[in-house]
Amino acid sequence: MKVGFVNIFGKPNAGKSTLLNALMGEKLAIVSHKVQTTRHRVKGILTEKNYQVVLSDTPGIIDPRYKLHEKMMQSVRTALEDADLGLLLVDVKDNWQENDALFSSLRLKVAALVVINKTDAVNAARLEEAKHFFEQKPYCRELVLISALKKKGIDELLQKIISYLPEGEPFYTGDDLTDLPVKFFASEIIREKIFNLYEEEIPYHTTVLVQEFAEKTTLVKIRADIIVQRETQKGIILGEGGKMIKKLGTEARKDIEAFLGQKVFLELFVKVREKWRESDVFLKEYGY
Ligand code: GDP
Ligand code: MG
Repeated sequence: MKVGFVNIFGKPNAGKSTLLNALMGEKLAIVSHKVQTTRHRVKGILTEKNYQVVLSDTPGIIDPRYKLHEKMMQSVRTALEDADLGLLLVDVKDNWQENDALFSSLRLKVAALVVINKTDAVNAARLEEAKHFFEQKPYCRELVLISALKKKGIDELLQKIISYLPEGEPFYTGDDLTDLPVKFFASEIIREKIFNLYEEEIPYHTTVLVQEFAEKTTLVKIRADIIVQRETQKGIILGEGGKMIKKLGTEARKDIEAFLGQKVFLELFVKVREKWRESDVFLKEYGY
């Protein structure tokens, strides 16, 4: 059996989540808390008779201005080096030089495929140019063209991935995939809603901590803190007369209910923690 860890890396918006979903197919890209390793954020496990591909991603925020990001860059490099294969995902419409600079700065030793995404969004000539641009780069073992959205090139990518993995025994069995880390997913869902509802920079200044997760007889009670850096950000999260946080709470609750198949009582609090992104203590506490 071919088994291994595959880490998907790319700038925000490159299409990592879409690619994960495309690779996972109908399977939920959700796995048990038990399978979270210190170095990988396991997002999905694809198991067939002859292979097991453990897909993970790395945080996509890349801005060395903040300490958080330095840590993230370190963790990106470590996570990638610790995988059997890296997928360097590029949005073909994005700035190629910038992506190249980023990939080069990782100085990867692990084998990596450059995966050019959103091929549906440009013409053939542009695609050919992109191919020539990335193909010769030292970090590019092979280049694959895909459209994660239109599910084009996904099977070819999967076959190529498998060809790079070592032989071995599977890391995970069925049980690992059904025992859901619900608390973790609750915070992920809230975060996702924050990303959807607020302007660009707000989500990046925000983190979510689930403080209470209690299964009562008729419902699940969840209390979560939304941590921001400044009072002004708190104001934005709350919105006029609390309108925005109400919306956030409703949308998050619906998704968590759908996810759990149970009624949920969701309480959200916004807390200001100045400079949480620059404090080692906070970073540790918040899992970075
Ligand atoms: P992530 O930030 O890297 O996880 O990126 P997402 O998966 O969230 O995708 C960012 C945006 O790009 C979303 O609006 C996707 O629908 C879009 N997207 C992803 N893959 C493709 C693709 O193959 N073609 C096109 N046209 N859009 C895509
Ligand atoms: Mg994503």
